[in-house]
Amino acid sequence: MSESNLENILAKQEWNQEKIISLLSIKDPKELEALYKTAYQVKQDTIGTQVYFRGLIEFSNICAKNCYYCGIRAENTDVKPYDMDEESIVEAAKFAYENDYGSLVLQSGERQDKPFIEKVVRVLEKIKSATGGKLGITLCVGEQSAEVYRRFFEAGAHRYLLRIESSHPELYAKLHPADHSFDERIAALKRIQDVGFQTGTGVMIGLPFQTLEHLANDLLFFKNFDIDMVGMGPYIEHEATPLFKHRELLMPPKERFELSLKMIAILRLMMPDINIAATTALQTLDPIGREKGLMAGANVVMPNITPTDYRKNYLLYEDKPCLEDSAGDCKFCLQNRIQSVGEEIAFGQWGDSKHFFNRKNS
Ligand code: SAH
Ligand code: SF4
Repeated sequence: MSESNLENILAKQEWNQEKIISLLSIKDPKELEALYKTAYQVKQDTIGTQVYFRGLIEFSNICAKNCYYCGIRAENTDVKPYDMDEESIVEAAKFAYENDYGSLVLQSGERQDKPFIEKVVRVLEKIKSATGGKLGITLCVGEQSAEVYRRFFEAGAHRYLLRIESSHPELYAKLHPADHSFDERIAALKRIQDVGFQTGTGVMIGLPFQTLEHLANDLLFFKNFDIDMVGMGPYIEHEATPLFKHRELLMPPKERFELSLKMIAILRLMMPDINIAATTALQTLDPIGREKGLMAGANVVMPNITPTDYRKNYLLYEDKPCLEDSAGDCKFCLQNRIQSVGEEIAFGQWGDSKHFFNRKNS
């Protein structure tokens, strides 16, 4: 593709599989730069260059599910289980509040049992009251019933992340055991949207068996679903998982990383007003991966504020960065990193998805 050809493609507003695949196939460094620059410009013009922080608390690694790619799957008995007590979670939330992060993400393995649900509801209420309702809260605790989602919403969470992982049913089936249902995943995402959450989803990029067609369809899926936020990043293999045996099918880390940046940039062009995260997995494959994500169109970063002792037991994938760091280290480090690329952290703001309000008003 020549650069003028790229300009022509980007000038048209329609999005289809063919066009997306041609952009995902770009190899020429100059064209790649042009793609990222155009996406950055769209971000700047639509939502600005402020970066929203979400302090990430990985409050439990106990999971009832067995996704083939994930290091904390139920059948991986090498993992030492932990479940932070309510006070420690609220303490971590207070760190985010006192450091003016504006928002939190509470993430854990998936459980649907009553004690878990009741605990999440209580923790939401306690955080709200300990911080005077000033922290925005995103939940990421998997598939739940409409009733449970409603209770979480009423207790104070207002954003929810549930990655579709792959929007292609056959690929989804290759990544999960037979009792994990693609249709149920879609239905859960719909329930989240219906309850009134700002709704986030995402996929892993560079999975075994995954093609550019799959990825193009994933981006179209986000658009058709009218999603408000996306967190997507490279798939990173974990030795103690069933998918590890297919590692010879993987593209080299550098290509997986580049493909992830292209996905971010194209999505920013397709959905200018959504929130897009520069995920931690990007940094696993490139030391300045998250900064590069911001320069390709992402606008959200999730500094880890999980107490250091627990981090080594929340290894969804291998070589996860920042395991020895404290919440304070992560704040300082990210602040420098973000300033180094000329962006500014929106301290103290919830950083809601502009798309959500545009969607509600239309
Ligand atoms: N249990 C919840 C939230 C925790 S998992 C859920 O599954 O929704 C959060 C995300 O981690 C998953 O959605 C998945 O996309 C990502 N993840 C898991 N294993 C991964 C791996 N090996 N490489 C990259 N991302 C992974
Ligand atoms: Fe559990 Fe989420 Fe990992 Fe699946 S991806 S095994 S649901 S923690």
